[in-house]
Amino acid sequence: IQSLGVPVAALPRRRSRRIQVGKVAVGGGAPITVQTMTTTRTSDVDATLQQIAQITAAGCDIVRLAVPTADDVAALPLIVAKSPLPVIADIHFQSRYVFAAIDAGCAAVRVNPGNIKEFDDRVGDIAEAAASAGIPIRVGVNAGSLDRRMLERHGAPTAEALVDSALHEAALFEEHGFRDLKIAVKHHDPRTMIAANRLLAARCDYPIHLGVTEAGPLLQGTVKSAVAFGILLAEGIGDTIRVSISAPPTEQVKAANHILQSLGLRPRELEIVSCPGCGRVQVDIHQLAARVEAAFEGFPYPLRVAVMGCVVNGPGEAREADLGVSSGNGKGQIFVKGEVVRTVPEYQIVDALLEEATALTENATEQ
Ligand code: SF4
Repeated sequence: IQSLGVPVAALPRRRSRRIQVGKVAVGGGAPITVQTMTTTRTSDVDATLQQIAQITAAGCDIVRLAVPTADDVAALPLIVAKSPLPVIADIHFQSRYVFAAIDAGCAAVRVNPGNIKEFDDRVGDIAEAAASAGIPIRVGVNAGSLDRRMLERHGAPTAEALVDSALHEAALFEEHGFRDLKIAVKHHDPRTMIAANRLLAARCDYPIHLGVTEAGPLLQGTVKSAVAFGILLAEGIGDTIRVSISAPPTEQVKAANHILQSLGLRPRELEIVSCPGCGRVQVDIHQLAARVEAAFEGFPYPLRVAVMGCVVNGPGEAREADLGVSSGNGKGQIFVKGEVVRTVPEYQIVDALLEEATALTENATEQ
């Protein structure tokens, strides 16, 4: 199914090294991937695997698990064996858990050098263990847990401080001949995060994990992430993304996918083009759009469905979509591929759209 969109040029991509997180390639021109973290106790294997299944269905590529206790470490082998997604172990404070996660078969380990006290002394051992397991390490630097030395040198978690910290740690790995790295420099302020990632991109060729850390509740956090990611991705910066909002992991994944799809960086799934409504509206457009979105949830073809509240822009937008409705006077004119196919009473609009979508995709499959 092809929508009648105007072709636009593909965005540029920064040249980065490629690493392999299990079966998923990151960097080096590989498709930009989406990741999130589970919110279950990692030691609760069943609950964690159930959540991994949910985020997989939502379109996640890589999952990261917090590993704060010995019980979490003990659960890793079973989770790794059963997870459909590559598992990254997220380690703070305890360097010994890094080795346990590698032994458990994790596809990568994230370390936060800022809060692993003996990190500089252990980096050689970590590099050796990761190299013999053939897995990459993510150096993840966060404004909230920046290495004390960098904080003293820069006076605040500035963009330069985040990048200096990350590249200092990368250099320690490089001294041991290990370059299978991915780097993240995260800040809650999109402007600092953007500046940090631009600087990082200019100073190394490692793949970059983008994140606005502690971005906030669903709406605020999604907007902050979308603004920051959109600017960076439009400049070609970013190889994998995580939307860090205070919402369930499935919502984080959906938001990340919408960001990538908006920029043409991930194949578009179903898209609903719906108007905001105004004084001309002739239907409860907000409710209608929500009902259409719910009815098409999981629809397996990337259709563009227009839901329009009156005749001003309605027929035009509905014609540009694969199918759509232009509402007015208690009725809906249903369009398919630019042609009005029928007019139905308002209460039948959602069913009519679903029927036409099914017929359209069945016809396309048969051709
Ligand atoms: Fe207003 Fe009609 Fe435009 Fe919707 S399509 S915003 S109701 S003018």
